[in-house]
Amino acid sequence: MLTQRIQAVQSSPTLRFTALAKQLQAQGKKVINLAAGEPDFDTPEPIKAAAIRAIQEGFTKYTPTTGIPELKAAIVSALARDRGLTYRPEQIAVTCGAKQALFNLLQVLVQAGDEVLIPSPYWVSYPEMVRLAAATPVEIRMDPKNGFRLDPKAVERGCNSKTRCLILNSPSNPTGAVLDENRLKAIAQIAKAHSLWIISDEIYAQLAYGTKAPSIAAVAPDVASRTLVVDGVSKAYAMTGWRIGYLAGPTEVVEAAGRLQDHSTSNPTSISQRAALAALTGDPASIRQMVQEFGQRRDLLVRRLAAVPKISFVEPEGAFYCFVDISATGLRSAAFSERLLQEALVASIPGEGFGWDSHVRLSFAIGRQALEEGLTRFETFIRSL
Ligand code: PMP
Ligand code: GLU
Repeated sequence: MLTQRIQAVQSSPTLRFTALAKQLQAQGKKVINLAAGEPDFDTPEPIKAAAIRAIQEGFTKYTPTTGIPELKAAIVSALARDRGLTYRPEQIAVTCGAKQALFNLLQVLVQAGDEVLIPSPYWVSYPEMVRLAAATPVEIRMDPKNGFRLDPKAVERGCNSKTRCLILNSPSNPTGAVLDENRLKAIAQIAKAHSLWIISDEIYAQLAYGTKAPSIAAVAPDVASRTLVVDGVSKAYAMTGWRIGYLAGPTEVVEAAGRLQDHSTSNPTSISQRAALAALTGDPASIRQMVQEFGQRRDLLVRRLAAVPKISFVEPEGAFYCFVDISATGLRSAAFSERLLQEALVASIPGEGFGWDSHVRLSFAIGRQALEEGLTRFETFIRSL
């Protein structure tokens, strides 16, 4: 008999659908993958070269659990340079992807009886991670009319004596919404008034188009001591498979997360740490190129979707997703995604996993030509309904 703990948890729909699309492509089906949760770019060559060097030098043994000192120093510098954040190395823990950082933080910050506020639409793994920490996820619905931006008043309404933690994700997966400085300041004051921890998932922070995605810990320094910033190299450096993320925050919490890691995974892969070091200390030009290309794809997607009947959407400002309202088609999200895949060979992710059965997520982490073709198929499919 399996535990109640695991019985309450669903498999990840983003990983499931991404794998399904890849499997169909491998079978020779001409599937256009608008389900992708990762950049289509290859990891830049200098990063790969650093990893190869690490292997050749025999850098293949255990490292300190929460990362090598050089990498922590590089993370401190990168957070200061890119995000205006000030940390000391002991305030950093390197993890096996941003996912482990989030998981470990929830394990050390909340427990049975605690409530965690999750703005919705949310990334699929947040509620499951909260449940695995025995706490209760509480959704705060965001309004597409406000561009899916979190309303500070809604955060206030969601708070009660059991509320311990708020999860922020800007730019957002799945909406691409970005929280601006004023909104973050207002949210920070509410978190402070209710003594909440803030977990700020900033994994898409570098991927913002025509705007900047500030960090709550930088714009509201008075909540930095209750904020845990989560980031990593997966998205910005096209390194999803290398599994390097990190967290930054108050030393006591970072040390506790490290203790948990001591008894679960130990260190993230030594070779990947060297690769991440090369990414963070390397020439930022490769990132700039990728961000520029994502921006152009975003414009293409927005222009093409605007011509499609029966749908509506909020223009993404960051990340590489667009969350599309398909309720006027009369289909629920899973049925929509299934038919879109079978009838039009386009993979998408049903919105139900993000808490919105009226929507599907389309990704623009795919080359422009394939994106054009995918959107043509999408439009033809919608018109056929
Ligand atoms: N947070 C969000 C919002 C994500 O979309 C992802 C996607 N993978 C992660 C965290 C986890 O990132 P990583 O691959 O570094 O574990
Ligand atoms: N985060 C990406 C996504 O939302 C990758 C899959 C995952 O880790 O959930 O598609």
